[in-house]
Amino acid sequence: MVDPAETCDDFLPEALRFRSPAPLVDIGANLTHESFARDLDAVLARARMAGVTHLILTGTDREHAEQAVELARRHTGLYATAGVHPHDASRWDPALQGAMRDLHQQPEVVAVGECGLDFNRNLSTPAEQERAFEAQLGLAVESGKPLFVHERDAGKRMREILHAWRDDIGDAVIHCFTADRDTLYGYLDLDLHIGLTGWLCDERRGHHLRELVGEIPLDRLMVETDCPYLLPRNLPAKLKGRRHEPALLPWIVREIAHWRNIGEAELARATTDTARAFFRLAAADGLPDAGAHQQEND
Ligand SMILES: [Zn+2]
Repeated sequence: MVDPAETCDDFLPEALRFRSPAPLVDIGANLTHESFARDLDAVLARARMAGVTHLILTGTDREHAEQAVELARRHTGLYATAGVHPHDASRWDPALQGAMRDLHQQPEVVAVGECGLDFNRNLSTPAEQERAFEAQLGLAVESGKPLFVHERDAGKRMREILHAWRDDIGDAVIHCFTADRDTLYGYLDLDLHIGLTGWLCDERRGHHLRELVGEIPLDRLMVETDCPYLLPRNLPAKLKGRRHEPALLPWIVREIAHWRNIGEAELARATTDTARAFFRLAAADGLPDAGAHQQEND
């Protein structure tokens, strides 16, 4: 049953109430961010209305990963990742490694990460980032779970490290891919998956991705909001607060489909199949699809 309060929710202007023609998986949602603390249930209800049936909550440090696991326990269709973001790599130590190892044993945790390299901001030194990243590659080998990888301005070093580990680790996704064609082909040669956000909607720095999105095989491509960050800059209406959320994922899918020259439904189905296989999601356990329920009731 659809809660009438959900359908009366007017937080999103009419022009931003998208409805995906097929179920979607948002593989990168930072729903433990403080900006979601007040209205998380409404955010999830809007995701459901938009057809986003599965959400992978990004765990960027111990505290956020534990919160993500808690949320995944409470809500159907929600899953967690557990890792330490390169920004926080300087905090990596044996105690943190042990805590991460324990988290990776939880059934709610479907990937190791967010981990990786960020030479754009270098909030931890490159040496600290590499140490924490390689330790987490080791944890992925131990747990057998796929990797959720962050890379910004570090494509060359990332390829070198993943090349060295390739035979030991399983599936790995470069989430929020923003780099150039050479880096993309380097990743595809390593048989990695690629996560795309609304970055390609950014006329200042993301339009180069429009020519690249068609070159990613559909069985390697997944979609994500990276909310509350990276609100698409070409949305057809203004959003108060400018906080990105999973209900806007269909807009990103529409954009990618446009630049790939395929149908929105075909892209939605393909990325969902890819994400379900990658994160090993059970087929029938997503957020209830509000539209489908409505049809049943009609
Ligand atoms: Zn990231």
